[in-house]
Amino acid sequence: MHGDEPGGLRIVRTLRARRASIRGVQIWVIDSLNPDGLARGTRTNARGVDLNRNFPQDWRPIGVRGSRFHSGPRPSSEPETRAVRRFIARIRPDVSVWFHQPYGFVVLPSDRSDATTVHRRYAREAELPARRLGGPRLTGTAIAWSNRRVGGTAFVVEPRGGAVPAAVARRHARAIIAVARGGQAGSSGSAAGADAGSTCTSCTPIPFGSGSAWASLARASASDRSSG
Ligand SMILES: [Zn+2]
Repeated sequence: MHGDEPGGLRIVRTLRARRASIRGVQIWVIDSLNPDGLARGTRTNARGVDLNRNFPQDWRPIGVRGSRFHSGPRPSSEPETRAVRRFIARIRPDVSVWFHQPYGFVVLPSDRSDATTVHRRYAREAELPARRLGGPRLTGTAIAWSNRRVGGTAFVVEPRGGAVPAAVARRHARAIIAVARGGQAGSSGSAAGADAGSTCTSCTPIPFGSGSAWASLARASASDRSSG
């Protein structure tokens, strides 16, 4: 999402390296929503827009082109935003994990929701705290759009700043697999494992060029959905 927060890349590469051992769930991996920002080391995309203020959920105008949190001229004005919206609307992930940096915690829902099972499971596996983000409510974010308009559980994970060590990347990869198997908040987490023989596993990049990482989207099997 933010080109100056590339830590998630190592996590998704670690996850891809394990693909042969992942059974019973589909995991879709996007290296970077913001390949231009990644190449330039900037938060915004090449047109100076903060993509995580550009989604249509509660969008409002912020800043001017090139300023740090510029939300773009209108909701979904940016091609990256539209591309990932189409992708998510098609896949309809049960769980999606969006990597940012550098806070070092799993971000709990800011609306004080009690539906934090998935977040806390991830935090446990990744050995990170789970906290709410302080400050004013954010507008135009990807996870708010995904949660409200698509469904499932979308949330932000913030590894600590700087390079992500290999051991940390492994813990995050394990956490992604764990929440993927657990499906949506409130489900038992065992259904996918029980159904492992009949479901398909894929771990496929979508066309955003090469580069950094941040979104990984896990979709539980059809039978998990119907039972949950
Ligand atoms: Zn960020």
